Amino acid sequence: MNFTKLLFSWYDLHQRDLPWRRTKDPYKIWISEIILQQTRIEQGLNYYHRFMDRFSTISDLAAADEHDVLKLWQGLGYYSRARNLLHSAKEIVKMNQGLFPSTYAEIRNLKGIGDYTAAAIASMAYDMPYPVVDGNVLRFFSRYFGIFESVDKASGKKAVLLLARGKMDLANPGKFNQAIMEFGSLQCKTGSPDCHACPFRENCFAFTHEKVVDLPVKSKAIQPRKRYFNFLVLIYKDPENGEIIYLRKRKENDIWKNLYDFPLIESSGPVSQSKLIQTAEWRNLVKTKKAVIRKRSKVYQHRLTHQLIFARFYVVHLGKKPVNEFTPAVLKNLDKFPVPRLIEKFLSDAAANGPNVLADHRR
Ligand code: SF4
Repeated sequence: MNFTKLLFSWYDLHQRDLPWRRTKDPYKIWISEIILQQTRIEQGLNYYHRFMDRFSTISDLAAADEHDVLKLWQGLGYYSRARNLLHSAKEIVKMNQGLFPSTYAEIRNLKGIGDYTAAAIASMAYDMPYPVVDGNVLRFFSRYFGIFESVDKASGKKAVLLLARGKMDLANPGKFNQAIMEFGSLQCKTGSPDCHACPFRENCFAFTHEKVVDLPVKSKAIQPRKRYFNFLVLIYKDPENGEIIYLRKRKENDIWKNLYDFPLIESSGPVSQSKLIQTAEWRNLVKTKKAVIRKRSKVYQHRLTHQLIFARFYVVHLGKKPVNEFTPAVLKNLDKFPVPRLIEKFLSDAAANGPNVLADHRR
């Protein structure tokens, strides 16, 4: 049996039933592909359904408010993906009357779409012969063909791309792409590939040369940049509306752009409470001498692709209404704001551990 026949017989038997595999709608395929970047299928599936319930067409998405799109995206991370989706949906509606582009070049031109995503949409929606090369394909092909170049370098990726081009079934490019990715994900897995039940084992370089554990080759991981965040959860108990919490909308071209967190003092290393409250930044944020620190949280470690964040939260109850540039939010409405996963974790811990420390229980 040739490569494609083996692959398709395996795929017909083992493929997962996923909603974006039952459609040729480029909008749905686009959304699924963007959600699934850096996300496991099990987690992505929920987000996909929620997204489709809310924005079932490009026009629905184009008309959305960024705040709502980010809120829906909350927890998925890599928020620029959501901002780019919205930007591109608006462009498609404005420039192309809401019709999704139908050539590879036009698709590749959309903001947030790289070679991989353009190939995925072009092949799956329009059956165009563009091979996809994601982590699953890199792993499977480097083992099967015995590629010893680093797959996280351009030369390694190019080698795999050329092989994928050569192997692609031109009659079924969409199915071919889905099948090689699914094969890498379910059979030729990272830690424990199921070689003994693998239809390719007789011709697989890694299996026949006992190199399965050595492939794919990866360059040394880059050490993440460590950052130290001291968040001030400033709370004022308003006589009419109850607790008001002050949120900060992140505007800088840093992480979490346009999401909300708390006023922040970033330090170059861990800093003690006694030192922190003496800083000019603390005085500038808290302003009043009537403030009381109600809680100092544990240190949360939060990993992003190239950053490792150590965050501590200081819950500060202010004795008087502050004048500041932050966004006031009533405690019970906090969940209406799109926040990064780290802030979500802190808020859910605060709510779960007995009386909510964010509420001012003083009479
Ligand atoms: S034999 Fe093992 S390493 Fe080779 S393709 Fe199959 S699962 Fe992957």
